[in-house]
Amino acid sequence: MQGLMQEWPLLCHKIIDHAATLHGDRTIVTRTVEGPIHTTTYREVRARSLQVAKRLERHGIREGDRVATLAWNTVRHLELWYGILGLGAVYHTVNPRLFRDEIAWLINDAEDRILFVDLTFVPLVEEIADQLTTIETVVVLTDAASMPETRLRNAVPYESFIAEVDADFAWRDLDENAAAGLCYTSGTTGKPKGVLYSHRSNMLHAFSMSAVDMLGLGSRDTVMPVVPMFHANGWSLAFSAPLNGSALVMPGAGMDGASIYQLLTEYRVTMTAAVPTVWLALLHHLDAQGGSLPDLDRVVIGGSACPRAMTEAFQERYGVDVLHAWGMTEMSPLGSVCSIKPAVAHLTGAEKLDLQETQGHPPITVEMKITDDAGNRQPWDGKTFGRLKVRGPAVARSYYKGAGGEILDEEGFFDTGDVAVIDPNGYMRITDRSKDVIKSGGEWISSIDLENIAVGHPDVAEAAVIGIAHPKWDERPLLIVVPKPGAEPDKQDILAYIGERAAKFWIPDDVLMVDEIPHTATGKIKKTALRDMFGSYRFA
Ligand code: ADP
Repeated sequence: MQGLMQEWPLLCHKIIDHAATLHGDRTIVTRTVEGPIHTTTYREVRARSLQVAKRLERHGIREGDRVATLAWNTVRHLELWYGILGLGAVYHTVNPRLFRDEIAWLINDAEDRILFVDLTFVPLVEEIADQLTTIETVVVLTDAASMPETRLRNAVPYESFIAEVDADFAWRDLDENAAAGLCYTSGTTGKPKGVLYSHRSNMLHAFSMSAVDMLGLGSRDTVMPVVPMFHANGWSLAFSAPLNGSALVMPGAGMDGASIYQLLTEYRVTMTAAVPTVWLALLHHLDAQGGSLPDLDRVVIGGSACPRAMTEAFQERYGVDVLHAWGMTEMSPLGSVCSIKPAVAHLTGAEKLDLQETQGHPPITVEMKITDDAGNRQPWDGKTFGRLKVRGPAVARSYYKGAGGEILDEEGFFDTGDVAVIDPNGYMRITDRSKDVIKSGGEWISSIDLENIAVGHPDVAEAAVIGIAHPKWDERPLLIVVPKPGAEPDKQDILAYIGERAAKFWIPDDVLMVDEIPHTATGKIKKTALRDMFGSYRFA
């Protein structure tokens, strides 16, 4: 027997309708790329989104067509997303921090028809314009007065582009499983692969992330998404904030500590989210200039592990709760948030910080398991390592155009490529990437844990650990260290330091000193390059 409830497809543009109707006066403040602060409301954003949809339709954009953006977090980017969605087209956020050739490659791969670009990135587009095979028009996100001189053919200012039509447009009725957004993985392992979100996956992800034990968003919040919309679906905030009627503060291109601090305090932001490097810059700014964060209630930190000292600084010095979060592009992107459950509510001080080093627990829409290499489930005892696999309505089931082939196991779980432990309360801790974990005599050694210990040594500026083939143990860890300027660290001293903090069989077999460690475009240690450089190294 079927239930007798209404058909109400889960379509993303219903979010902006709801926000405009129920929270119409809530504000969206933007630090524009041109400079000045701009303020508007959800009611106006909806009207302009309708205009965007109508103008795109006039251009000939149809359901399923991809529309690219190379843009910061601004209200124009937000209204663009909703306009694209409401027409049934697909927003494709392009990460401007990728290499030029990569950007051209993925715009062509996506077969984007129109490219909306912020002023900042016009020179970048000029450089790659000759390589773009599918782009018909470039729309520069500014008005005619601020339109730069450009070599780009068919470039028009955004304000003139949308002013050609009014807002008299009806959102398209779509299947909730229709494609909504496209975001490529950063491609640390080979060519980037496209992740194609649906309306339904975005909606379910936004609902589940709104819960109190996740991001806990409400209409009394003022949310500042510092994490760019081009990074992993903007961590859902372009959906979950308006869904809940939270006011928004959009930081534009200003990602430095001083600019972030100014917006946080001036616009009384209660919740914000970004990767650790952004918060490092803010904390440095606060250290140097002084200041306080009286309105900020919580800060979401993810994308890479949140350092313990950062959690401590926010909580102890500034009274701001840290929500350590984990996720990936393939998961829409959030998979877990470290909020405090009753079972751990008694923890204080160092024990609470220990817990907050975990990446937290998942919402109902993310099922987790950890397995050994053969696929056997491992216990949730907080100690046993396993490959972390996930299943849910906002997890990719394959990549765009089938890249990479079959990606689910026989139970329908996606292998995240992370290695983790999960404790009996469901708190998950990432211990490594599965490509990087060191397999020594049947035991797994976390390269990340070793690196974290090593950088605690007073002479060590940066550390990386890779596995080196070993005749008896399969693999053993090799520690690669960049010394602090002026320091001349002693190998044995570093190894003794690690020995005091890790199991004996974890202690690296050797230490190499180097001037620098290679990094990826997104700032992560490039282990593949290190393996190329030192893979043939043999322990004495
Ligand atoms: P990015 O552009 O940040 O690299 P990806 O989706 O490619 O986005 O990266 C996802 C990966 O980032 C995860 O699989 C995990 O390895 C890492 N990651 C994300 N959040 C965390 C976190 N809180 N702690 C440790 N690693 C994390």
